[in-house]
Amino acid sequence: MQRNKCLYTGKAKSVYSTDDNDYVILEFRDDTTAFNGEKMAQLTDKGKVNNQFNAFIMRYLADHGIANHFVKSLSPTESLVKHLKMLPIECVIRNRVAGGLSRRLGIEEGMELQEPILEFFLKNDALNDPMINESHIRVFGWASDAEVATMKCLTLKVNDILTPLFAQAGLLLVDYKLEFGYFHDQLLLGDEFSPDGCRIWDSKTHDKLDKDRFRRDLGNVIESYKQVATRLGIDIH
Ligand code: 5GP
Repeated sequence: MQRNKCLYTGKAKSVYSTDDNDYVILEFRDDTTAFNGEKMAQLTDKGKVNNQFNAFIMRYLADHGIANHFVKSLSPTESLVKHLKMLPIECVIRNRVAGGLSRRLGIEEGMELQEPILEFFLKNDALNDPMINESHIRVFGWASDAEVATMKCLTLKVNDILTPLFAQAGLLLVDYKLEFGYFHDQLLLGDEFSPDGCRIWDSKTHDKLDKDRFRRDLGNVIESYKQVATRLGIDIH
């Protein structure tokens, strides 16, 4: 599929049009940002690790009944995906206390949750992606009740599928963010699933193996992403 003009450049990915309006090409770049773009760096190999990590997870999810936008890998850093019209909402699911939840409620990082906590955030850089609830979503028209119900159901299903996958690799899937969008009249999982948008800890040591290594200057960022990939059986090339 021919890569045409750049439709959108995000903080870590670029989106290109193709000859077919139903499909776009995602390019995963080495650019890395945190704190809404305040902290920036180029990390060698991040684009290829995240592209191939995402391809593996999206294929795994599709094989386990979660329809998503992924079509195929095109190069080490590019994938062909269905062109979705995204809902402006981030769905965050948490299996343990960490990050924003820990800061907001003053609860120590690491506490295991009796059941997953689901939170919604509005995709709005100018407002730093504020947390919103179902009432905000309904009243301001960011999604319908039916769409919220579908996103909740799919996010919890993804959790049921991925938590054991990571567990058998000796990894804790602490939390992560999902985004959804429409392909014609079908609401599909879109965006990406990579260590940029999750928290992944070693099950025994609780060592952080995700973007918190960059956020908190812990070093070995891409080495940790690669370690997670290897432990999941993903061949990065
Ligand atoms: P927190 O609310 O604790 O900052 O984030 C919860 C989870 O969602 C973390 O795994 C974090 O990486 C992910 N997440 C939340 N917002 C974003 C975002 O705007 N971009 C990315 N890449 N991940 C996010």
